[in-house]
Amino acid sequence: MKTGGLADVSASLPAALRAAGHDVRVLMPAYASVLAACERARLQPREIARTRILDQPVRLLAVAGAGANADETEPPLWLLDIPALFDRPGSPYASADGRDWQDNGWRFGCFCAAAAWVAQGATLRHADAQLRFLPDVVHANDWPAGLVGAWLTDARPRPAVVFGIHNLAYQGCFDRGLFDALRLPGQLWHMDGVEFDGALSFLKAGLTCADALVTVSPGYAREITTPAHGYGMDGVLRGRAEHLHGIVNGIDTAAWNPGTDPLIHQRFDSATLAARRANTVALRAGCGLAPSGEPLMGMVTRLAWQKGVDIVLDALPELLALGVQFVVLGSGDAALAAAWRAAANAHPTQVSFTDGYDEALAHRIEAGADVFLMPSRYEPCGLNQLYSLRYGALPLVHATGGLLDTVRPLQLRNGRLSGTGFHFTRPDSLSFLCAVQAMLALWRQPDLWQVAQRNGMAHDASWAASIPAYGKVYETAIRHATERAKQDGYAA
Ligand code: ADP
Repeated sequence: MKTGGLADVSASLPAALRAAGHDVRVLMPAYASVLAACERARLQPREIARTRILDQPVRLLAVAGAGANADETEPPLWLLDIPALFDRPGSPYASADGRDWQDNGWRFGCFCAAAAWVAQGATLRHADAQLRFLPDVVHANDWPAGLVGAWLTDARPRPAVVFGIHNLAYQGCFDRGLFDALRLPGQLWHMDGVEFDGALSFLKAGLTCADALVTVSPGYAREITTPAHGYGMDGVLRGRAEHLHGIVNGIDTAAWNPGTDPLIHQRFDSATLAARRANTVALRAGCGLAPSGEPLMGMVTRLAWQKGVDIVLDALPELLALGVQFVVLGSGDAALAAAWRAAANAHPTQVSFTDGYDEALAHRIEAGADVFLMPSRYEPCGLNQLYSLRYGALPLVHATGGLLDTVRPLQLRNGRLSGTGFHFTRPDSLSFLCAVQAMLALWRQPDLWQVAQRNGMAHDASWAASIPAYGKVYETAIRHATERAKQDGYAA
């Protein structure tokens, strides 16, 4: 169930935690498309607990072997089945025609309540001892899971709660009436609780009720405590700064491996880099672009203001005059899609635009583009630049958030080229064009270009470094929860 990077992380982080010895369950709503995928894969979800929450029946289903790799490294997937709320077509948040469901607050409020029920040991009386589970930590991600900590406020005993911030701009704000309808603990209606400007904010609940906060890069952890990037939550975050941790996302190195990727035209690695060229030729041909000796620039992105795709559009006349080409895959904002479509129609041999969501094309772009553009105005972590590094597409990024943390600027000193990509410092077309000029200067030196590619391919984007950091955050959260319990006069 994927709309962006949180889906990638929700698959790869639990698997990496499990590989490191943590006992993990992944919990998500039983969306219609997830149940359909189970059926296609002949995986029969099995009911392991049931209850009523907020006057509706809720079933907890376990799916064995549900992960992409369907082996022992995949943590068990548990689904919360509340058919009236989640057995619907479309994305997690919107119908097939792209309109947000009117009852999203109610849907995810109920999901959080049900998740809290699971976190308090819904399966503890199960006949099969293997299924009994009482977590030490609940790691709730982004606003849809923001109320889990709120629901657990009065729980005794209470697992530690870690709230993960993947994008602070999406906040889940709803009328006060929803707070009443959800029957949340009354004391939480407070400016240090879930109330934000007179509304119920799921995100704020996540920030205030958790024992520890974690976000997806150290850079973003710093930025969100400032008014410029705090989306109104910077004060809350400054207040909780000692509990806020920034840990860079890893990637699924099996799914994103140019040496074994079944979705690309020609497999390669840093020892066989010359073979990569075939992917560029195939990508150009597949997208109707003319053969060219100039760089091919790729983008795979949600079409949203955040992603800065308009910055590239602003600079397009100058860029096209430089002879570069574009292959863009994106979905989202209709006006941005129309602008890219118009550019592709006007310059069919130089610009290719695919409006939609296409996993295979995303892999082919990483494998074939010479340069990968991430002009994001802000970027909590970003995954595509990590895929690009691995696939030998040099990332050209706005120096912000996780992009700043993961792409080292290329520097030539004493004839030695270090770094992995190109930075630009201001999210505007002039700053962007300067980076493109620097990129073109390197392009004219193919040997150095290959050094840059190999530098990037040597970058370790796996979870190896981040998993111990997560372990520490979980321990910190458990300590905090224990302290809190002592102060409240009960044993956690
Ligand atoms: P965000 O989560 O803000 O959208 P990330 O860079 O963290 O950005 O992750 C985006 C993920 O979604 C990547 O795996 C990317 O390949 C994928 N993605 C985004 N848009 C598309 C698309 N139109 N088609 C295929 N994959 C896409």
